[in-house]
Order: sequence, then C-alpha cells, then structure tokens
Amino acid sequence: MSCRSPLDWDRLLAYWLGELDPDSEARTEEHYLGCAACSRRLEQLVELAREVCAVTRSSGVNLFVSEEFVRRLSEKGLQVREYRVPLNGSVNCTVAPGDDFVMARLEARLDEVKRIDMVYLDSSGETQMRREDVPFIAQSGGVVFSTRIDILRALPATTLRLRLLAVDDSGDGLLGDYTFNHTPDCSGQLEQ
Ligand SMILES: [Zn+2]
Repeated sequence: MSCRSPLDWDRLLAYWLGELDPDSEARTEEHYLGCAACSRRLEQLVELAREVCAVTRSSGVNLFVSEEFVRRLSEKGLQVREYRVPLNGSVNCTVAPGDDFVMARLEARLDEVKRIDMVYLDSSGETQMRREDVPFIAQSGGVVFSTRIDILRALPATTLRLRLLAVDDSGDGLLGDYTFNHTPDCSGQLEQ
C-alpha cells in the first residue's frame, strides 16, 4: 500500500495536536481517511509522540519538541535535518527534497527560566511576531522546534532572526538572538 501524494509528517503531527486551521484540517482528514498508507503513518507518529511527549506542542508554524523526540524520528528512519544555532549565533540552512522534518536547536541557558517567549524580528530589529510561552525543557540547554516543512519549502532566500526572551514578573530578559540564513534547496552545496 502506497500513496502518491503522502501527507507531510509534520502536517500529520500538527493534525493530531489539533493545531491546523479548519481548512487544512478538513483536507488532511479527507486524505488520510481514504488512504491506508497515510492512516498507518499517522498511527506510527501518534504512537511515537505519545512515547516521548515530554514536550510536543505546536504553535502556528512551529512544532516544539524534545531532543528525544528528534532522536526517535531518526531511529524510525525519517529524514531529519538538524541545525544547532549557538547562543547569539547564526546558521546557514535549507530544506532538501527528501527531508521529513527540519529541526532547529536554539542554545541558551535555561536554568531558572520560567517562561520563554519567541520573537520574530524584522531586518531593522523590530518585533514582527511574538509567540508566548513556548514549550521547553529547562535542563536541555536549548529550545528545539521544527518549522512546518511546507512553509520552509516555499521560502525564498531569506534571513530570519529569532530572539528568545525569559519572561517573569519583572519583565523580559534577553536569553539570546539567533539568525537563520536560509537558501532554497541546496542540492550539491555543503551544509555548514
Ligand atoms: Zn496518502
């Protein structure tokens, strides 16, 4: 049993988490209900997410997960592209045709952090969007997330700037700034 236009793994996961918009949700449901291959994929993914659901929550285009979850995806044979972005550092990134998930790990010191907000900055450093209270594991030393692969595939060459803030009663504290220099499919080009 195979499927000619299989649903993306991250779409299936977002579906399971109830985070798709109503249109995508209806389309996803219609497809997998009529497709044995994709129903099976959804079952496998749900099983896996349950096992390692310490942190698995999506927020719009991003899915926040644990490193354990990422490791298990690879073990299951899924193609996972991972980027580690050092504290206040940058990374050159892309998405290749065979990738199932693209993960980024933003390194930061998280001990004693109670809440983290993720901020998208424009080129002049102004806040474009702010995601409040994103999931994280304090002792992991970073925030791990996956941006929906259909969104990444549609991106032109662009620079994406993210900021992590530690939020508590006294306000916002800067945890770190991270830059993604994204290029569309880089077949043949070395990753850095
Ligand atoms: Zn299918």
